[in-house]
Amino acid sequence: MASSSSKQSRGGAALPTSTNSTGDASDNVDVWCSPGGHVLSKLHKQRVLDQIKNGWVDDAIATAAMKLIKEEHPEIGGLRPTSLFYGQSKATSQERRNQLCRLRSFVFHDDFQQPRGRQVQILYTGSLHWVLATNYHEYERELVYVYDSLEEPVTELLVAKIAAVFRFANPKFRIVWPVVDQQKNNKDCGIFAIAFLVALCHKFDPSSLSFDSSMKLRKHLVRCFEAGSFSLTDLFPTRANPADVQRSLPGKLFNMVSQSVAQARRRIVLRDRSVHVICRCRMPVGKGAKDKTVICSNLLCTVRLYHESCVVIFDREFYAKIQRKYYTCPPCRDILLGY
Ligand SMILES: [Zn+2]
Ligand SMILES: [Zn+2]
Repeated sequence: MASSSSKQSRGGAALPTSTNSTGDASDNVDVWCSPGGHVLSKLHKQRVLDQIKNGWVDDAIATAAMKLIKEEHPEIGGLRPTSLFYGQSKATSQERRNQLCRLRSFVFHDDFQQPRGRQVQILYTGSLHWVLATNYHEYERELVYVYDSLEEPVTELLVAKIAAVFRFANPKFRIVWPVVDQQKNNKDCGIFAIAFLVALCHKFDPSSLSFDSSMKLRKHLVRCFEAGSFSLTDLFPTRANPADVQRSLPGKLFNMVSQSVAQARRRIVLRDRSVHVICRCRMPVGKGAKDKTVICSNLLCTVRLYHESCVVIFDREFYAKIQRKYYTCPPCRDILLGY
């Protein structure tokens, strides 16, 4: 293993002053490196190098990879800490509802701003799995690509998380799952998600890549973290000859999807889904019966349907005053009052 001791770079120079992912920054002995300023411990290194037992990518590793990419590609949006999109699928209906409310309130605390431009985000699906979601290719259209190294069933929670990342203005957006190289074990999804992320940000099409063995990918990630760069080291190891790798991004895919989903699915799309979103948070309606919605009484309202859990966040006083009857949302109230 290459040592970074002789030539300390951004990643090698640990900055143990900030609180780290282990929640304890006092024990500097445990610091391994700080890619993108995100401190990782030696346990994280063991984890990255362990493809058999504990080699599961955790929040800290996924977030460190995104921060490092963000440092090198500041023009790319998203890349937020994975803990912001927390949520487990195996939860009681009450817990699931709380998770959705938390996701929505996260959007609220972001001031309901709609992200613009290219967004890339590693997401935890809620069921022991990481995927990469992005609008990188077609950021002007409301189409999200999910790169998934294991063909897992899609969870409601993942769809909600994707909506929370992109917050599209239109009532509907679409998610497609392009066919990509699949992991060979049950530990590599996070490693693949990072590899897809790096490939994408280096303008490679993840669908056209065939990744090397788990151990090569893991050792490569360690080198990148220690060097503090995904760009200075060699490419993520692929089995394909790099000269053969298609450098262009799949502009074709959107056209194929819009022309013929059936045709696209057979060739390059594993599955696709249309998602209906409501409210200021631009997220779907939760499936549970207790996830109530509120209708704006103005027939010309551009939003019309709100989550009750969101209304009580951004319009609590008014909603209490009208005793949950004949709600009119703030923009419509302004219009009706002639502002
Ligand atoms: Zn909402
Ligand atoms: Zn309204």
